[in-house]
Amino acid sequence: MLGPGCALRSSCLPLLCACTLLLLPPVAPVSLPTPKPQERAKLLLVSFDGFRWDYLDRVPTPNFHALMKEGVQVEQVENIYITKTFPNHHSLVTGLYAETHGIVANEMYDPSLNLSFSMETDSMYDSRWWDQAVPLWVTVQKAGGRSGAAMWPGSDVKIRGAYPDRYLPYNASVSFETRVQRVIEWFAAPRDEAVDFAVLYWEEPDESGHLLGPESPLMDEVIADIDEKLGFLRNELRKAGLYEEVNLIVTSDHGMMQLSTEKIIELDEYVGRDLYTWIDKSPVVGIIPNEGKLDDVYNKLKDANPYMAVYKKEDIPAHYHYQHNIRIMPVLLEAQEGWTIVQNRTAPFMLGNHGYNNSLRSMHPVFVARGPAFRQDFVQPSMQSVDLYPLMCHILSIRPAPNNGSLMRVKALLSQEPCPPAPSVPPRIPQYSYAPVIGSMISIVMVVGFLIFYIREVTVKQLPTLPRGSREMSQPLLQEDMNLHFLETHRGFVSVRHI
Ligand SMILES: [Zn+2]
Repeated sequence: MLGPGCALRSSCLPLLCACTLLLLPPVAPVSLPTPKPQERAKLLLVSFDGFRWDYLDRVPTPNFHALMKEGVQVEQVENIYITKTFPNHHSLVTGLYAETHGIVANEMYDPSLNLSFSMETDSMYDSRWWDQAVPLWVTVQKAGGRSGAAMWPGSDVKIRGAYPDRYLPYNASVSFETRVQRVIEWFAAPRDEAVDFAVLYWEEPDESGHLLGPESPLMDEVIADIDEKLGFLRNELRKAGLYEEVNLIVTSDHGMMQLSTEKIIELDEYVGRDLYTWIDKSPVVGIIPNEGKLDDVYNKLKDANPYMAVYKKEDIPAHYHYQHNIRIMPVLLEAQEGWTIVQNRTAPFMLGNHGYNNSLRSMHPVFVARGPAFRQDFVQPSMQSVDLYPLMCHILSIRPAPNNGSLMRVKALLSQEPCPPAPSVPPRIPQYSYAPVIGSMISIVMVVGFLIFYIREVTVKQLPTLPRGSREMSQPLLQEDMNLHFLETHRGFVSVRHI
Protein backbone atom coordinates (compact mmCIF):
# COMPACT_ATOMS: atom_id res chain seq x y z
CA MET A 1 0.00 0.00 0.00
CA LEU A 2 1.14 3.44 -0.73
CA GLY A 3 0.88 6.32 1.67
CA PRO A 4 -0.77 9.68 1.08
CA GLY A 5 2.41 11.11 -0.45
CA CYS A 6 2.41 8.72 -3.35
CA ALA A 7 0.35 10.85 -5.71
CA LEU A 8 2.42 13.93 -4.96
CA ARG A 9 5.67 12.10 -5.56
CA SER A 10 4.64 10.69 -8.87
CA SER A 11 3.19 13.94 -10.17
CA CYS A 12 6.26 15.99 -9.21
CA LEU A 13 8.89 13.70 -10.64
CA PRO A 14 8.52 14.63 -14.32
CA LEU A 15 8.87 18.33 -13.54
CA LEU A 16 11.92 17.74 -11.33
CA CYS A 17 13.52 15.65 -14.03
CA ALA A 18 12.83 18.35 -16.63
CA CYS A 19 14.42 21.05 -14.46
CA THR A 20 17.46 18.87 -13.77
CA LEU A 21 17.94 18.03 -17.41
CA LEU A 22 18.02 21.67 -18.45
CA LEU A 23 21.18 22.05 -16.37
CA LEU A 24 22.92 19.09 -17.98
CA PRO A 25 24.57 18.66 -21.39
CA PRO A 26 21.90 17.55 -23.84
CA VAL A 27 23.33 14.06 -24.26
CA ALA A 28 24.21 13.36 -20.63
CA PRO A 29 23.00 9.90 -19.68
CA VAL A 30 20.02 9.93 -17.36
CA SER A 31 20.46 7.76 -14.30
CA LEU A 32 17.19 6.66 -12.76
CA PRO A 33 16.81 5.31 -9.25
CA THR A 34 16.07 1.60 -9.11
CA PRO A 35 12.70 1.26 -7.40
CA LYS A 36 12.75 -0.89 -4.29
CA PRO A 37 10.47 -3.91 -4.44
CA GLN A 38 7.39 -3.16 -2.42
CA GLU A 39 6.86 -5.30 0.66
CA ARG A 40 3.71 -7.23 -0.03
CA ALA A 41 1.05 -7.62 2.63
CA LYS A 42 0.04 -11.14 3.73
CA LEU A 43 -3.57 -12.21 3.79
CA LEU A 44 -5.31 -15.36 5.00
CA LEU A 45 -9.02 -15.81 4.28
CA VAL A 46 -10.77 -18.45 6.39
CA SER A 47 -14.28 -19.78 5.88
CA PHE A 48 -16.14 -21.82 8.47
CA ASP A 49 -18.98 -23.13 6.32
CA GLY A 50 -22.43 -22.17 7.59
CA PHE A 51 -21.24 -20.05 10.53
CA ARG A 52 -24.23 -17.77 11.03
CA TRP A 53 -23.46 -14.23 12.16
CA ASP A 54 -25.20 -14.58 15.54
CA TYR A 55 -23.44 -17.80 16.57
CA LEU A 56 -20.81 -15.46 18.00
CA ASP A 57 -22.91 -14.57 21.00
CA ARG A 58 -24.74 -17.82 21.50
CA VAL A 59 -22.00 -19.47 23.52
CA PRO A 60 -18.71 -18.08 24.79
CA THR A 61 -16.45 -17.65 21.76
CA PRO A 62 -13.35 -16.05 23.27
CA ASN A 63 -11.21 -16.40 20.17
CA PHE A 64 -13.74 -14.71 17.91
CA HIS A 65 -14.17 -11.96 20.47
CA ALA A 66 -10.42 -11.49 20.79
CA LEU A 67 -10.25 -11.05 17.03
CA MET A 68 -13.06 -8.49 17.16
CA LYS A 69 -11.23 -6.57 19.88
CA GLU A 70 -7.94 -6.69 18.01
CA GLY A 71 -9.57 -5.89 14.71
CA VAL A 72 -12.95 -5.37 13.10
CA GLN A 73 -16.36 -6.95 12.91
CA VAL A 74 -19.14 -6.49 10.37
CA GLU A 75 -22.49 -7.33 11.92
CA GLN A 76 -24.58 -7.98 8.82
CA VAL A 77 -22.92 -9.28 5.68
CA GLU A 78 -25.41 -9.62 2.87
CA ASN A 79 -24.18 -12.54 0.83
CA ILE A 80 -25.27 -13.38 -2.72
CA TYR A 81 -28.31 -15.15 -4.07
CA ILE A 82 -28.63 -18.09 -3.84
CA THR A 83 -27.22 -18.55 -0.33
CA LYS A 84 -25.56 -21.86 -1.13
CA THR A 85 -21.99 -22.94 -0.55
CA PHE A 86 -20.40 -23.00 -4.00
CA PRO A 87 -21.96 -19.80 -5.35
CA ASN A 88 -21.05 -17.84 -2.23
CA HIS A 89 -17.51 -19.11 -1.85
CA HIS A 90 -16.86 -18.21 -5.46
CA SER A 91 -18.29 -14.73 -4.90
CA LEU A 92 -15.93 -14.17 -1.97
CA VAL A 93 -12.90 -14.72 -4.20
CA THR A 94 -14.23 -13.03 -7.36
CA GLY A 95 -16.42 -10.19 -6.07
CA LEU A 96 -19.09 -11.26 -8.57
CA TYR A 97 -22.72 -12.23 -8.31
CA ALA A 98 -23.55 -15.80 -9.27
CA GLU A 99 -25.05 -14.83 -12.63
CA THR A 100 -21.64 -13.40 -13.59
CA HIS A 101 -19.18 -15.90 -12.15
CA GLY A 102 -21.28 -18.79 -13.40
CA ILE A 103 -21.30 -21.03 -10.31
CA VAL A 104 -25.01 -20.44 -9.87
CA ALA A 105 -25.80 -23.40 -7.60
CA ASN A 106 -24.40 -26.50 -5.96
CA GLU A 107 -26.15 -28.54 -8.64
CA MET A 108 -26.19 -27.15 -12.18
CA TYR A 109 -26.93 -27.96 -15.79
CA ASP A 110 -25.34 -26.10 -18.67
CA PRO A 111 -27.40 -26.48 -21.89
CA SER A 112 -24.62 -25.17 -24.12
CA LEU A 113 -22.11 -27.68 -22.75
CA ASN A 114 -24.77 -30.34 -22.18
CA LEU A 115 -23.06 -31.02 -18.87
CA SER A 116 -24.28 -31.43 -15.31
CA PHE A 117 -22.39 -30.17 -12.27
CA SER A 118 -22.57 -31.65 -8.83
CA MET A 119 -20.35 -30.95 -5.85
CA GLU A 120 -20.75 -34.64 -5.04
CA THR A 121 -19.08 -35.86 -8.26
CA ASP A 122 -15.93 -35.31 -10.30
CA SER A 123 -17.94 -33.12 -12.67
CA MET A 124 -16.92 -30.16 -10.55
CA TYR A 125 -13.30 -30.55 -11.66
CA ASP A 126 -14.17 -29.67 -15.26
CA SER A 127 -12.58 -26.25 -15.81
CA ARG A 128 -15.36 -25.22 -18.14
CA TRP A 129 -17.63 -24.67 -15.16
CA TRP A 130 -15.20 -22.24 -13.59
CA ASP A 131 -13.74 -20.27 -16.45
CA GLN A 132 -16.39 -17.54 -16.47
CA ALA A 133 -14.49 -15.68 -13.71
CA VAL A 134 -10.98 -15.38 -12.30
CA PRO A 135 -10.55 -16.18 -8.59
CA LEU A 136 -8.22 -14.03 -6.56
CA TRP A 137 -5.54 -16.71 -6.24
CA VAL A 138 -5.12 -16.74 -10.01
CA THR A 139 -5.04 -12.94 -10.17
CA VAL A 140 -2.39 -12.83 -7.43
CA GLN A 141 -0.21 -15.25 -9.34
CA LYS A 142 -0.63 -13.49 -12.67
CA ALA A 143 0.49 -10.31 -10.92
CA GLY A 144 3.69 -12.01 -9.76
CA GLY A 145 2.58 -13.13 -6.30
CA ARG A 146 2.06 -16.56 -4.78
CA SER A 147 -1.06 -18.13 -3.37
CA GLY A 148 -2.17 -21.19 -1.45
CA ALA A 149 -5.50 -22.93 -0.91
CA ALA A 150 -6.59 -25.50 1.63
CA MET A 151 -9.81 -27.16 0.44
CA TRP A 152 -11.55 -23.96 -0.61
CA PRO A 153 -14.36 -24.83 -3.06
CA GLY A 154 -12.97 -24.71 -6.58
CA SER A 155 -9.36 -24.20 -5.52
CA ASP A 156 -8.28 -27.63 -6.72
CA VAL A 157 -9.70 -26.99 -10.18
CA LYS A 158 -7.59 -25.57 -13.00
CA ILE A 159 -9.15 -22.17 -13.61
CA ARG A 160 -8.00 -19.98 -16.50
CA GLY A 161 -5.07 -22.35 -16.87
CA ALA A 162 -3.83 -22.16 -13.29
CA TYR A 163 -3.99 -23.89 -9.92
CA PRO A 164 -2.95 -22.11 -6.74
CA ASP A 165 0.84 -22.32 -6.25
CA ARG A 166 0.19 -24.46 -3.18
CA TYR A 167 -3.05 -26.33 -2.63
CA LEU A 168 -4.60 -29.37 -1.02
CA PRO A 169 -6.87 -31.49 -3.22
CA TYR A 170 -10.25 -31.71 -1.55
CA ASN A 171 -10.44 -34.44 1.04
CA ALA A 172 -13.01 -34.07 3.79
CA SER A 173 -11.09 -36.45 6.05
CA VAL A 174 -8.11 -34.08 6.35
CA SER A 175 -8.36 -32.45 9.78
CA PHE A 176 -8.64 -28.74 10.36
CA GLU A 177 -5.34 -28.82 12.23
CA THR A 178 -3.53 -30.38 9.25
CA ARG A 179 -5.01 -27.79 6.92
CA VAL A 180 -3.83 -25.01 9.24
CA GLN A 181 -0.34 -26.48 9.47
CA ARG A 182 -0.02 -26.61 5.68
CA VAL A 183 -1.15 -23.00 5.36
CA ILE A 184 1.32 -21.88 8.04
CA GLU A 185 4.12 -23.67 6.22
CA TRP A 186 3.22 -21.86 3.01
CA PHE A 187 3.32 -18.47 4.70
CA ALA A 188 6.48 -19.25 6.68
CA ALA A 189 8.48 -20.53 3.69
CA PRO A 190 11.61 -18.63 2.56
CA ARG A 191 10.76 -15.22 1.20
CA ASP A 192 10.98 -16.13 -2.47
CA GLU A 193 8.71 -19.14 -1.95
CA ALA A 194 6.23 -17.93 0.67
CA VAL A 195 2.63 -17.34 -0.32
CA ASP A 196 1.15 -13.87 -0.06
CA PHE A 197 -2.46 -14.97 -0.07
CA ALA A 198 -4.13 -18.14 1.13
CA VAL A 199 -7.64 -19.45 1.57
CA LEU A 200 -8.67 -22.04 4.16
CA TYR A 201 -11.98 -23.88 4.31
CA TRP A 202 -13.62 -25.98 7.03
CA GLU A 203 -16.90 -27.88 6.61
CA GLU A 204 -18.35 -27.06 10.04
CA PRO A 205 -20.65 -25.86 11.50
CA ASP A 206 -22.59 -26.36 8.24
CA GLU A 207 -22.78 -30.14 8.42
CA SER A 208 -24.01 -30.14 12.02
CA GLY A 209 -26.37 -27.26 11.24
CA HIS A 210 -28.06 -29.34 8.53
CA LEU A 211 -28.21 -32.41 10.72
CA LEU A 212 -29.27 -30.91 14.04
CA GLY A 213 -30.92 -27.67 13.01
CA PRO A 214 -29.41 -24.38 14.16
CA GLU A 215 -31.79 -24.09 17.11
CA SER A 216 -30.72 -27.41 18.59
CA PRO A 217 -28.91 -27.07 21.94
CA LEU A 218 -26.40 -29.55 20.53
CA MET A 219 -25.17 -26.81 18.22
CA ASP A 220 -23.66 -25.00 21.20
CA GLU A 221 -20.89 -27.55 21.42
CA VAL A 222 -20.29 -27.36 17.67
CA ILE A 223 -19.92 -23.59 17.82
CA ALA A 224 -17.60 -23.80 20.82
CA ASP A 225 -15.48 -26.28 18.87
CA ILE A 226 -15.19 -23.85 15.96
CA ASP A 227 -13.99 -21.20 18.39
CA GLU A 228 -11.34 -23.62 19.65
CA LYS A 229 -10.29 -24.27 16.08
CA LEU A 230 -9.90 -20.55 15.57
CA GLY A 231 -7.81 -20.51 18.75
CA PHE A 232 -5.60 -23.24 17.27
CA LEU A 233 -5.11 -21.15 14.14
CA ARG A 234 -4.19 -18.07 16.19
CA ASN A 235 -1.68 -20.04 18.23
CA GLU A 236 -0.06 -21.57 15.18
CA LEU A 237 0.28 -18.14 13.60
CA ARG A 238 1.89 -16.87 16.80
CA LYS A 239 4.28 -19.82 17.02
CA ALA A 240 5.40 -19.15 13.46
CA GLY A 241 5.89 -15.44 14.22
CA LEU A 242 3.19 -14.56 11.70
CA TYR A 243 0.41 -13.32 13.93
CA GLU A 244 1.24 -9.62 13.66
CA GLU A 245 2.19 -9.84 10.00
CA VAL A 246 -0.66 -11.81 8.45
CA ASN A 247 -4.01 -10.13 7.89
CA LEU A 248 -6.59 -12.66 8.98
CA ILE A 249 -10.20 -12.57 7.75
CA VAL A 250 -12.65 -15.08 9.21
CA THR A 251 -15.99 -15.34 7.51
CA SER A 252 -18.43 -17.83 6.02
CA ASP A 253 -20.58 -18.44 2.98
CA HIS A 254 -24.02 -18.30 4.60
CA GLY A 255 -26.05 -18.80 7.74
CA MET A 256 -28.53 -21.54 8.57
CA MET A 257 -32.30 -21.76 9.09
CA GLN A 258 -34.26 -24.13 11.30
CA LEU A 259 -36.66 -26.31 9.30
CA SER A 260 -39.84 -28.05 10.33
CA THR A 261 -41.78 -31.04 9.06
CA GLU A 262 -44.81 -28.74 9.27
CA LYS A 263 -43.38 -26.57 6.50
CA ILE A 264 -43.13 -28.87 3.50
CA ILE A 265 -44.14 -28.02 -0.08
CA GLU A 266 -44.73 -31.15 -2.18
CA LEU A 267 -44.47 -30.48 -5.91
CA ASP A 268 -46.19 -33.74 -6.78
CA GLU A 269 -49.43 -32.20 -5.50
CA TYR A 270 -49.28 -29.55 -8.22
CA VAL A 271 -47.43 -30.82 -11.28
CA GLY A 272 -46.57 -34.20 -12.76
CA ARG A 273 -42.94 -35.25 -12.69
CA ASP A 274 -43.20 -36.22 -16.36
CA LEU A 275 -43.44 -32.54 -17.27
CA TYR A 276 -40.09 -31.31 -15.95
CA THR A 277 -36.57 -32.03 -14.73
CA TRP A 278 -35.42 -30.43 -11.53
CA ILE A 279 -31.82 -29.44 -11.24
CA ASP A 280 -30.97 -27.61 -8.02
CA LYS A 281 -32.86 -28.50 -4.86
CA SER A 282 -34.62 -26.77 -1.98
CA PRO A 283 -35.03 -24.06 -0.94
CA VAL A 284 -34.42 -22.54 -4.40
CA VAL A 285 -35.31 -25.09 -7.06
CA GLY A 286 -34.27 -24.76 -10.69
CA ILE A 287 -36.65 -26.51 -13.11
CA ILE A 288 -36.40 -27.34 -16.81
CA PRO A 289 -39.90 -27.93 -18.19
CA ASN A 290 -40.07 -30.48 -20.99
CA GLU A 291 -40.11 -29.15 -24.54
CA GLY A 292 -43.23 -27.05 -25.11
CA LYS A 293 -44.32 -27.38 -21.48
CA LEU A 294 -42.93 -24.15 -20.04
CA ASP A 295 -46.25 -22.34 -19.72
CA ASP A 296 -48.04 -25.46 -18.60
CA VAL A 297 -45.56 -26.10 -15.74
CA TYR A 298 -45.40 -22.45 -14.80
CA ASN A 299 -49.18 -22.05 -14.67
CA LYS A 300 -49.57 -25.16 -12.55
CA LEU A 301 -47.03 -23.90 -10.00
CA LYS A 302 -47.32 -20.13 -9.93
CA ASP A 303 -50.17 -19.91 -7.40
CA ALA A 304 -49.89 -23.41 -6.06
CA ASN A 305 -48.57 -22.64 -2.60
CA PRO A 306 -48.48 -19.33 -0.70
CA TYR A 307 -45.05 -20.18 0.74
CA MET A 308 -43.43 -20.68 -2.65
CA ALA A 309 -42.60 -17.94 -5.16
CA VAL A 310 -42.47 -19.06 -8.79
CA TYR A 311 -40.60 -17.13 -11.45
CA LYS A 312 -40.03 -17.54 -15.13
CA LYS A 313 -36.37 -16.81 -15.69
CA GLU A 314 -37.07 -13.46 -17.35
CA ASP A 315 -39.17 -12.37 -14.35
CA ILE A 316 -36.63 -13.10 -11.60
CA PRO A 317 -36.28 -9.84 -9.61
CA ALA A 318 -33.35 -7.79 -10.85
CA HIS A 319 -31.99 -7.21 -7.35
CA TYR A 320 -31.33 -10.94 -7.02
CA HIS A 321 -28.66 -10.59 -9.73
CA TYR A 322 -29.68 -14.07 -10.71
CA GLN A 323 -30.94 -14.13 -14.25
CA HIS A 324 -28.33 -13.57 -16.92
CA ASN A 325 -26.66 -16.92 -17.18
CA ILE A 326 -27.45 -19.95 -19.28
CA ARG A 327 -27.07 -22.11 -16.15
CA ILE A 328 -30.06 -20.46 -14.48
CA MET A 329 -33.05 -22.59 -15.30
CA PRO A 330 -36.22 -21.48 -17.15
CA VAL A 331 -38.36 -21.73 -13.98
CA LEU A 332 -37.22 -20.90 -10.46
CA LEU A 333 -39.08 -21.89 -7.29
CA GLU A 334 -38.18 -20.09 -4.08
CA ALA A 335 -39.41 -21.30 -0.70
CA GLN A 336 -40.14 -18.84 2.06
CA GLU A 337 -37.81 -18.84 5.05
CA GLY A 338 -38.02 -22.14 6.91
CA TRP A 339 -39.99 -23.95 4.20
CA THR A 340 -38.76 -26.96 2.26
CA ILE A 341 -39.61 -27.88 -1.34
CA VAL A 342 -39.65 -31.59 -2.14
CA GLN A 343 -41.35 -33.74 -4.76
CA ASN A 344 -42.95 -35.75 -2.00
CA ARG A 345 -42.32 -36.61 1.64
CA THR A 346 -40.27 -39.68 0.89
CA ALA A 347 -37.31 -37.37 0.31
CA PRO A 348 -34.70 -37.24 3.10
CA PHE A 349 -35.38 -34.37 5.45
CA MET A 350 -32.90 -32.02 7.07
CA LEU A 351 -33.47 -30.00 10.22
CA GLY A 352 -31.45 -27.05 8.98
CA ASN A 353 -30.88 -25.52 5.55
CA HIS A 354 -29.74 -22.42 3.69
CA GLY A 355 -30.11 -21.12 0.18
CA TYR A 356 -32.99 -18.77 0.97
CA ASN A 357 -33.27 -15.13 -0.01
CA ASN A 358 -30.02 -13.35 0.75
CA SER A 359 -31.79 -10.43 2.43
CA LEU A 360 -32.77 -12.70 5.36
CA ARG A 361 -30.63 -12.25 8.45
CA SER A 362 -30.74 -16.00 9.07
CA MET A 363 -28.73 -16.43 5.86
CA HIS A 364 -25.99 -13.98 6.79
CA PRO A 365 -22.47 -15.15 7.70
CA VAL A 366 -20.02 -14.08 10.36
CA PHE A 367 -17.29 -11.56 9.52
CA VAL A 368 -14.31 -10.62 11.69
CA ALA A 369 -10.80 -9.56 10.69
CA ARG A 370 -7.55 -8.41 12.24
CA GLY A 371 -4.02 -7.53 11.17
CA PRO A 372 -1.94 -4.56 10.10
CA ALA A 373 -4.41 -3.57 7.38
CA PHE A 374 -7.35 -3.35 9.78
CA ARG A 375 -8.52 -0.95 12.44
CA GLN A 376 -8.83 -2.15 16.00
CA ASP A 377 -11.97 -2.63 18.05
CA PHE A 378 -14.20 -1.36 15.27
CA VAL A 379 -17.69 -2.54 14.33
CA GLN A 380 -19.33 -1.79 10.99
CA PRO A 381 -23.07 -2.40 10.70
CA SER A 382 -23.16 -3.93 7.22
CA MET A 383 -21.43 -4.77 3.96
CA GLN A 384 -22.01 -6.85 0.86
CA SER A 385 -20.05 -10.07 0.59
CA VAL A 386 -18.91 -9.01 -2.90
CA ASP A 387 -17.12 -6.07 -1.23
CA LEU A 388 -14.62 -8.47 0.28
CA TYR A 389 -12.92 -8.99 -3.08
CA PRO A 390 -11.92 -5.35 -3.71
CA LEU A 391 -10.96 -5.11 -0.03
CA MET A 392 -8.60 -8.06 -0.36
CA CYS A 393 -7.20 -6.72 -3.63
CA HIS A 394 -6.48 -3.44 -1.89
CA ILE A 395 -4.70 -5.15 1.00
CA LEU A 396 -2.63 -7.19 -1.44
CA SER A 397 -2.01 -4.23 -3.76
CA ILE A 398 -3.50 -6.21 -6.60
CA ARG A 399 -5.40 -4.68 -9.47
CA PRO A 400 -8.96 -6.04 -9.10
CA ALA A 401 -10.68 -7.67 -12.02
CA PRO A 402 -14.06 -6.10 -12.86
CA ASN A 403 -16.37 -6.95 -9.97
CA ASN A 404 -19.67 -6.14 -8.28
CA GLY A 405 -18.13 -5.00 -4.99
CA SER A 406 -17.12 -1.62 -3.63
CA LEU A 407 -13.97 -0.77 -1.71
CA MET A 408 -15.62 2.47 -0.62
CA ARG A 409 -18.32 0.54 1.27
CA VAL A 410 -15.69 -1.19 3.40
CA LYS A 411 -12.85 1.34 3.55
CA ALA A 412 -13.77 2.21 7.17
CA LEU A 413 -12.46 -1.23 8.16
CA LEU A 414 -8.96 -0.27 7.08
CA SER A 415 -6.30 1.19 9.34
CA GLN A 416 -5.21 3.51 6.53
CA GLU A 417 -7.45 5.40 4.15
CA PRO A 418 -7.08 4.00 0.62
CA CYS A 419 -4.99 6.22 -1.67
CA PRO A 420 -7.49 7.09 -4.40
CA PRO A 421 -7.79 5.75 -7.00
CA ALA A 422 -6.63 2.65 -5.16
CA PRO A 423 -7.26 -0.22 -7.55
CA SER A 424 -4.56 -0.11 -10.19
CA VAL A 425 -1.37 -1.10 -8.38
CA PRO A 426 0.37 -4.20 -9.66
CA PRO A 427 2.14 -6.00 -6.79
CA ARG A 428 5.88 -5.54 -6.27
CA ILE A 429 5.88 -2.55 -8.58
CA PRO A 430 5.46 0.64 -6.60
CA GLN A 431 2.96 2.99 -8.15
CA TYR A 432 5.60 5.60 -8.90
CA SER A 433 8.15 3.27 -10.49
CA TYR A 434 7.46 4.24 -14.12
CA ALA A 435 7.07 7.92 -13.43
CA PRO A 436 10.79 8.86 -13.49
CA VAL A 437 11.31 7.07 -16.78
CA ILE A 438 8.27 8.62 -18.41
CA GLY A 439 9.06 12.02 -16.91
CA SER A 440 12.65 11.90 -18.11
CA MET A 441 11.65 10.86 -21.61
CA ILE A 442 9.15 13.68 -21.82
CA SER A 443 11.82 16.08 -20.55
CA ILE A 444 14.37 14.92 -23.13
CA VAL A 445 11.82 15.31 -25.91
CA MET A 446 10.98 18.80 -24.63
CA VAL A 447 14.62 19.90 -24.44
CA VAL A 448 15.51 18.54 -27.88
CA GLY A 449 12.33 20.01 -29.32
CA PHE A 450 13.10 23.38 -27.76
CA LEU A 451 16.62 23.39 -29.22
CA ILE A 452 15.41 22.47 -32.68
CA PHE A 453 12.74 25.13 -32.49
CA TYR A 454 15.29 27.69 -31.26
CA ILE A 455 17.75 26.85 -34.02
CA ARG A 456 15.10 27.15 -36.70
CA GLU A 457 13.79 30.43 -35.34
CA VAL A 458 17.23 32.05 -35.03
CA THR A 459 18.20 30.86 -38.46
CA VAL A 460 15.06 32.22 -40.02
CA LYS A 461 15.47 35.58 -38.32
CA GLN A 462 19.13 35.89 -39.33
CA LEU A 463 18.46 35.04 -42.95
CA PRO A 464 15.09 36.49 -43.66
CA THR A 465 15.63 37.27 -47.31
CA LEU A 466 17.41 34.17 -48.49
CA PRO A 467 15.55 31.77 -50.73
CA ARG A 468 14.53 28.47 -49.16
CA GLY A 469 17.47 26.45 -50.51
CA SER A 470 19.98 28.96 -49.16
CA ARG A 471 18.49 28.78 -45.68
CA GLU A 472 19.08 25.05 -45.65
CA MET A 473 22.69 25.50 -46.66
CA SER A 474 23.32 27.99 -43.92
CA GLN A 475 22.11 25.76 -41.05
CA PRO A 476 25.32 23.80 -40.52
CA LEU A 477 27.28 26.99 -40.00
CA LEU A 478 24.95 28.11 -37.30
CA GLN A 479 25.13 24.75 -35.57
CA GLU A 480 28.90 24.79 -35.68
CA ASP A 481 28.89 28.17 -34.05
CA MET A 482 26.72 26.92 -31.24
CA ASN A 483 29.00 23.92 -30.79
CA LEU A 484 26.08 21.50 -30.65
CA HIS A 485 28.10 18.41 -31.35
CA PHE A 486 25.23 16.10 -30.82
CA LEU A 487 23.73 17.33 -34.05
CA GLU A 488 26.86 16.49 -36.01
CA THR A 489 26.03 12.88 -35.89
CA HIS A 490 22.90 13.53 -37.87
CA ARG A 491 23.70 12.33 -41.33
CA GLY A 492 21.73 15.02 -43.08
CA PHE A 493 23.49 17.92 -41.37
CA VAL A 494 26.95 16.37 -41.85
CA SER A 495 26.41 15.99 -45.56
CA VAL A 496 25.18 19.56 -45.90
CA ARG A 497 28.17 20.91 -44.03
CA HIS A 498 30.59 19.57 -46.61
CA ILE A 499 28.74 20.93 -49.56
ZN1 LIG B 1 -24.81 -26.46 3.73
